[in-house]
Amino acid sequence: MSASSASADLSSAKTVPFTQEQINSIRKTHPTPFYIYDEAAIRANVRRLNEAFSWCPGFREYFAVKATPNPRILQILMEEGCGGDCSSLGELLLCERVGMTGEKVMFTSNNTLAKDYKKARELDAVINLDDLTHVDYLHDNVGTPELICFRYNPGPLREGNVIIGKPEEAKFGFTREQLFTGYRQAMEKGAKRFGLHTMVASNELNPEFFVETAVMLFELAVDLHKELGIRLEFVNLGGGMGIPYRPGELALDFEVVGSGVKAAYDRLIGGTDLDPLTIYLENGRIITGPYGYLVTEVVHAKNTYKNYVGVDACMANLMRPGMYGSYHHMSILGKEDAPLDLTADVVGSLCENNDKFAIDRKLPHVGRGDVMVIHDAGAHGHSMGFQYNAKLRSAELLLREDGEVELIRRAETMDDYFATLNI
Ligand SMILES: *Cc1c(COP(=O)(O)O)cnc(C)c1O
Repeated sequence: MSASSASADLSSAKTVPFTQEQINSIRKTHPTPFYIYDEAAIRANVRRLNEAFSWCPGFREYFAVKATPNPRILQILMEEGCGGDCSSLGELLLCERVGMTGEKVMFTSNNTLAKDYKKARELDAVINLDDLTHVDYLHDNVGTPELICFRYNPGPLREGNVIIGKPEEAKFGFTREQLFTGYRQAMEKGAKRFGLHTMVASNELNPEFFVETAVMLFELAVDLHKELGIRLEFVNLGGGMGIPYRPGELALDFEVVGSGVKAAYDRLIGGTDLDPLTIYLENGRIITGPYGYLVTEVVHAKNTYKNYVGVDACMANLMRPGMYGSYHHMSILGKEDAPLDLTADVVGSLCENNDKFAIDRKLPHVGRGDVMVIHDAGAHGHSMGFQYNAKLRSAELLLREDGEVELIRRAETMDDYFATLNI
């Protein structure tokens, strides 16, 4: 299949890209739980995004590294033209390891440490400041780069969405007034090229939201030009494009976002002194989320006041359901078409009652040894893992385009756990 010509299937049929036999053969060498990512689907998806913005010269998606901080995934995305969006020294190092440097790296941090700025400067990354006081902090610690970007927090001027909350409650970014001061100060310190950034959405499925964000930044670009005489090189609309975690939800249509942003561009920027103005995005979730699966085995079924299905993964492998109450769809391999006549909580083995992948989920009858696939775990899944209860982080596998399975992160071992202890 030619990925670039594949049109988007916006319905979220919760299917899996592997067979039960394939998984059983993988389990011989890689015991559950493990993550597996679908390379072909990741590539096809990024191509659709790039296509939707192909009208915009210089368009770039900076993949939010924190979503899936695996060098092999970064390499694939880099091959598809993506940059990397980092917020820490470690994430910068991950990008550097795969050869992503210079303006292919966006450094969008907050409450930033000088050593992190130092690395960002070394890589010649695009530095996106989170606060007015960082203009001096950056200058005094590592010098002011020629290209500088600021993160705008519209506060009460923008509603934000349900998940990210109200912008005025968020710790991120400059106020509008601070922005004008910031660009002035940066110019005095030698900055010559400028960008503008915002991030006001999380898991947002409404394409209009992103068009409104573009309008907000285009209008601000015009005001900055009028008042300070600066011509922005780019606006970065941030990440936050949502995915349909629940079956029946519709995926965000890149086409609709791309053409909506284009219409706003033509109205506000096209043909003015600000044209051309490049557009950047920095999504994580929508890039890899739907294409990563957590594979786990059912080890127990318990019946007390409720039914419980116990699996060999736990919240340390995927924290979103326990932390945010997020829905993640589940398939039992080989029982995809069985009637859903069991209602159960799906649980891990942490000594915490929120260690649940699902509450009151309708499932087929499952038993010990069944393989459960947890969907939409490709972003903010493995990366949020932790070691509470001396649990270990799982392996990550890549289902390659050629059908081979590649280990792209081995599972942690007890030796890893003990490595930092002084006994
Ligand atoms: C987390 C984050 C992103 C990516 O968010 P997604 O919801 O994964 O798209 C982008 N930019 C910044 C600054 C972030 O903190």
